[in-house]
Formats: sequence, C-alpha cells, structure tokens
Amino acid sequence: MYRWYRLRNQLHCGFNYKKVIPPCRNITSLAIETSCDDTSVAVVQKSSSESLPKIVCLNTHRTLSKNEKYGGIHPSVVIQEHQKNLAKVVYETINQSRSLGVSKYDLIAVTRGPGMMGPLAIGLNFAKGLAVGLDKPLLAVHHMQAHALTVQLESRVSFPFLSILVSGGHTILILSKSVVAHEILASTTDIAIGDYLDKCAKYLEIPWNNQMPAAALEKFAVPTLNDKSIDCNPPNPMSSGDKAHNPNFSFSGLESYARRIITSKTWATSEKKLLAYKLQEAAFKHICQKMTKAIESLDLSKVRFLVCSGGVARNSLLKKMLKEQLISLHKRELAPEMKLVYPSLELCSDNAAMIAYTGIRMFEEGYKSSLEVEPIRKWPINTIMDVEGWMHQ
Ligand code: AMP
Ligand code: ZN
Repeated sequence: MYRWYRLRNQLHCGFNYKKVIPPCRNITSLAIETSCDDTSVAVVQKSSSESLPKIVCLNTHRTLSKNEKYGGIHPSVVIQEHQKNLAKVVYETINQSRSLGVSKYDLIAVTRGPGMMGPLAIGLNFAKGLAVGLDKPLLAVHHMQAHALTVQLESRVSFPFLSILVSGGHTILILSKSVVAHEILASTTDIAIGDYLDKCAKYLEIPWNNQMPAAALEKFAVPTLNDKSIDCNPPNPMSSGDKAHNPNFSFSGLESYARRIITSKTWATSEKKLLAYKLQEAAFKHICQKMTKAIESLDLSKVRFLVCSGGVARNSLLKKMLKEQLISLHKRELAPEMKLVYPSLELCSDNAAMIAYTGIRMFEEGYKSSLEVEPIRKWPINTIMDVEGWMHQ
C-alpha cells in the first residue's frame, strides 16, 4: 500500500494520500506556466515504458505587442494579461484534450518559481483551485529544472547530461545528474544573455514584429556588409588576468559597449545589421569560450549530451557556434562522446508542456506539493528540494 508522508513543513492539505497512481500506467498532467509574460497551458502524457512522452495539447497566449510599447516586459501589463487570459486558455486546453480523448488528469503541475511574483501567484493559485476541485495532487515545480528536462520530451537524453540554459533571466551551465540534482558549473555574474540581446534590439530600435526582441534582432542581423566595414570590436568578457580562468559568464560589459557604440553616431540600416550580427556573435563566442573552460576542468567521460535550452536556444547562430565548439573539443579528445541536442523551437521558449513533464517526473519520484506553497522569485536550480512545501511518498 502507498502512503504519503510529509517531508518538510508537516502540512496536511486534504488530499486522499492513498490515491496514488500505480507505476505501470500512463500519467497525465495538466499544467500551467505563468512565470513571466506568456500564459501557457498544456496536457502531457507519459507512460512508464521507454516511449517518449506525448504532448496532448499545448496552448500559449503571448502578450508581445502590448509589452513592446514599454520597451520590455511591463509587470502590470503582464499581470493584467494573465488575469484576463488564464481561465480562457485553461478552458480551451481542457476542451481540446477532451476532444482528443483525454479527460482525466492524474496531477496538476504549475511553475512555482523562479520568476515574477505577481504572474507566478496567478498561475499557482489557479492550479491550487484545479487541484482542489479535481481532487488531484499539486506539483509546484522549478521553471529552470523544467527548461533542463524539456529535451526529454522529444529525445532520449539520459542522465547525466550537461545543459547550457540561456533565457531572459538566466545563463547557467549545469550538470544534471537526476530529476532533482542539477549542479551549477557556471552562471552569469551580472545580467542574463537574453536580457543583453533584448537591450541590443532596443538600442538598435528594431521593431519586435510580434516576436521577442532578441528574435527580431536575429532576423535583422546580417553578417556582412558589401561596400565597407564598420569599426565594431566588442570586448571579450572575463578573458584576461585571473578572470580568464573563471568559467562564469558576464554580459554587462558587452551591454555597455553595445549602448555606447550604437548611440555614438547615426548608423545606416546596413551598418546596423552588421552591428546586430557582431553584438550577437560576441556574446555567443563568450558562452562557447566559458563553456570550454568548464569542460576542460571536469571529467565528463560519462556525459553523452550537451543540451542547449531556454528562449535564446532558438538562435541559429548560437547553435552553429556551439556545434563548431563541440567539434573542436572532440578534436582535442575532450568530451569525445558528447552530442549537441536542443528542444524544438516551440519548446525552447517558456511553455507549459515542460512544466507538465517536470510535474510528472517529480510525481514519479514520489513528490507532490503542499497546498500552502507560495511563489518563489529567486530559486537557484541546485536548491530545488531545499524549499518548504515538498511532500514525499
Ligand atoms: P525565456 O526566458 O526562456 O522565455 O527566454 C526569453 C528570452 O529568449 C528573451 O530574452 C527573448 O528575447 C530570447 N529569444 C527568443 N527568441 C530568440 C532568438 N531567436 N535568438 C535569441 N534570443 C531569443
Ligand atoms: Zn524560461
């Protein structure tokens, strides 16, 4: 017989603890993601066999155009949009999944953090309501853990694997050893790469065209200028002195450089396109160099995958440069078994399918969340289990 007991905060929240899914059948998760600006809801199914999980449906409402006029994510716009859209997206997703023959859920998953407190609270409270209303366990999961595990929705990537997680709020290199154990090997000492790229797009005054600003920057960027070249030589951060041996990332120096050079004169459009390319390239070169530094100092002979995930992993120049870097590492007989993998474009950005999947994996590990859990703004990925509210079977 299965029995739940409480791991940390000793809260009993009215669940029927004996109603646990036997490990031999499909587990279906209904999930909500509202950690930033996207309102996303998904249904994911996983069987205990070796087959890949199935995304039954995934619906995401994006509020890009409303944020564009503020030049970035505006907290009150985002809160208003989640409040307006979440119930509707949940309703549509439930109807869609029912029409596809899936009408019962074994658990409700939701993003607990890290992220923006207001948006997180909206998703978390809605998920608690669903968990209570449907009498199902709540799995309040870690957003970056979900980005790290996303790749397993589409490819057979087994632990341990290395991940470079590049998003609007994070730039971390991690070694994922299990569903809950993610060792941080390097992280940004200042701003995240997505933040840097978004600011470059802003300084260059590139219209978003209903895409994220760094995606608009990628489309706008052109690597060559036919007639003349431009004087743009971005710095190579943390590459000299003691800092050269430090595997951490830094993008604030590049951001100051970008602001300075872009505002130093009036650039022709063709010149701006080359600037956009060089400013992206400099940040990606920095990522490749620092990742190599970290890899050089570790024994990664058992690690077969390098995963690149998060919104910035949509960038094709980054993927190309990471691939070239890996080839050069192979030539040096470093990480000889390692292969580069990344989620499909839709799953690189914030989405509820990754939250649904992470909820299922945590549930399989025997965890669920107390109904008293609160959102967490800052939550390092190496402390997933250190917060209050987890209960273990
Ligand atoms: P996330 O926080 O994981 O949702 O990622 C959002 C970040 O990814 C934002 O900074 C976006 O501007 C950035 N992003 C989205 N698409 C691209 C792209 N094609 N190239 C680079 N960055 C991108
Ligand atoms: Zn994210």
